[in-house]
Amino acid sequence: MKDDIPNSPEARDAHNLMHPYTNARKLQSDGPLVIESGEGIYVTDIHGNRYIEAMSGLWSAGLGFSEKRLVAAATKQLEVLPFYHVFSQRSHGPAIDLAEKLVNLAPVPMSKAFFTNSGSEANDTAVKMLWYRAHAMGTPEKKKIISRLRGYHGVTVAAASMTGLPYNHMSFGLPLPGFLHTGSPHYWRDAEPDESEADFVARRARELEELILAEGPETIAAFIGEPVLGGGGVVVPPKGYWQAIQAVLDKYDILLIADEVICGFGRTGNMFGTETFGMKPDMMTLSKQITSSYQPFSALLVNDRVFEPIADESNRIGTFGHGYTGGGHPVGAAVALETLRIIEEDNLLDHVRRVGAHMQAGLAELADHPLVGEHRGVGLIAALELVTDKATKAPHGKPGALGGIASARMQAHGVISRNMTDALAFCPPMIVTEAEVDEILARTKLALDETAEEIG
Ligand code: PLP
Repeated sequence: MKDDIPNSPEARDAHNLMHPYTNARKLQSDGPLVIESGEGIYVTDIHGNRYIEAMSGLWSAGLGFSEKRLVAAATKQLEVLPFYHVFSQRSHGPAIDLAEKLVNLAPVPMSKAFFTNSGSEANDTAVKMLWYRAHAMGTPEKKKIISRLRGYHGVTVAAASMTGLPYNHMSFGLPLPGFLHTGSPHYWRDAEPDESEADFVARRARELEELILAEGPETIAAFIGEPVLGGGGVVVPPKGYWQAIQAVLDKYDILLIADEVICGFGRTGNMFGTETFGMKPDMMTLSKQITSSYQPFSALLVNDRVFEPIADESNRIGTFGHGYTGGGHPVGAAVALETLRIIEEDNLLDHVRRVGAHMQAGLAELADHPLVGEHRGVGLIAALELVTDKATKAPHGKPGALGGIASARMQAHGVISRNMTDALAFCPPMIVTEAEVDEILARTKLALDETAEEIG
């Protein structure tokens, strides 16, 4: 272990804490990176090393790590009403204000907000609402959900089933029956030789239609997708993709869920990724940047097509038997409201468009590096996919190995990125400046050069 003092935080961590998304044996031998404080786009570890958090933590601290207004909003709410709930016809001011704000902010007509605590819970709730709705409408067989390979929707049982990444299924026995996967929108990686972008989009739409017809359209409730795939490697869909998918869904009366957990609240340069890509969802799941992750919080927006049958069914049964103790927590709701005020008052969407364009231009220049196969991104979210052979796009050794070396080099140079099977992700806090972006780019270039040298 890096720090072999028996009572060090690293040793105590390895002794007592089981980590998500971690090789538990490697943690025992290497110990964790222990972060102590944050300021702006920087975090500092317990040994005084300062890092640019180029991932906003988990794509989530949009306002950086020291926004005093969020601290004040949380403190004020803790003093007035530290907890109340919205079960059984109870409510409170922050939940009412936030629900109204989100319904008004939605880029397509939405009817109601339902509050949850995490992206996974919001997505699980979407599935349960669709199942309940299917029964309400007298079509209990209309319950299957289609998602995409490379899609990430979280880790609870239904959310993990919708996720299209191997690690979320392997050794869990997932996905559950009734969760279907169709191809990803990753043109660069998944296109056939000589296939144009338009032909690729048409093929993906055709494959979706074939899947629907093979399963029976009357059995499919919804399709879920992130406007930009995040955890699957930051994949920006090709032009016309969402329009082609939406046309197939409309043809067979299948609802669309936009998973805005990463894209929502400015990340792509608009308030929602739905706007950036012209989607028309019936449900939207929101989390992460909604509170800049200063509080765990998530929400599901539903339109009347979803809400009305559910309302009738709850009247027939006597209740809608679903909800979380912490859903709509007053402190989280107060922090969300303040986050939205800051995004609006500081014109953060304009800022993301301007600084995002600067970041994408800089990363596009790095695409000339011998190890970079593809640069992709929009707004302030991007990835560089690393390969050793640009023509074959082959990974270097085991998939993920090259990205592992590069991200470790970046960390040594004080930049925290994330390696997603050789795609290095960039998702800095939305408050990042152009000068700070230049710093990220310079250190990334250094790390790539060192990686090239290391592998020879
Ligand atoms: N949906 C998307 C698009 C995500 O990126 C994530 C998390 O990264 C989730 C859902 C799950 O959110 P959580 O980790 O809060 O459960």
